[in-house]
Amino acid sequence: MPLLRLLFALSLIALASCSSPVRRGSHSTYGDRPGPQGFRTVIIDAGHGGRDSGARARGLVEKQLALDVAKRVRSDLGMGFKSVLMRENDHFVELDGRVAVANRYPDAVLVSIHFNYGHRRRAGPETYYWRTDSYALAKRVQQNLSAVAPYESGNAGLVRRRLRLTRNPTIPCILVECGYLTNANDARLCGTAAYREKLAQAIAKAIRSQSALGDAGMGPLPRPIYAPPSRAGDARG
Ligand SMILES: [Zn+2]
Repeated sequence: MPLLRLLFALSLIALASCSSPVRRGSHSTYGDRPGPQGFRTVIIDAGHGGRDSGARARGLVEKQLALDVAKRVRSDLGMGFKSVLMRENDHFVELDGRVAVANRYPDAVLVSIHFNYGHRRRAGPETYYWRTDSYALAKRVQQNLSAVAPYESGNAGLVRRRLRLTRNPTIPCILVECGYLTNANDARLCGTAAYREKLAQAIAKAIRSQSALGDAGMGPLPRPIYAPPSRAGDARG
């Protein structure tokens, strides 16, 4: 029965590839591949929501500003992209739930939007990435945000950090901290719709550039770091 033998062999191969710790190609669990190009789907994650307000400072609430920017990014991306909002209103989604939603879209990128909390002197946007396949998108976002953020000096800028939403999804994924609500200048700007629109346009422009150009022009890619998925007990999720 050569056919049965063939099927048996094929099923063994399938089993072997499922149990392999590093799945190459589009579903590497480490993101150890070049950045994406030609993608048309963007998962836009407004951080926090519902019972989780995120940062609160100077009369501003992170979950509200994040949702506002997320919706603006969706409209700035326009018809050329399919934008999927992780949440459309004020409800809470677990971080692992956000990862699960992102994983339903194998040819997408994930951009998580937040506002920062820290020392009152720290100001300006920061963009977090962990994986090799997310570096160029993060760099493009940070560069474009820096161009519209007047109080960018003194922060870490582009930051490599293993978080739930920069490590665990199967798709390229970054987390953007749009500004410090604890800083007087940042708070004044972030509280205005005009500035949030500038932030959103900068993020949308970076997404469009990444889709058009891939990693081109972003310099050498960082080496992959084969770290396990980020868990709730990690320092910062
Ligand atoms: Zn946040």
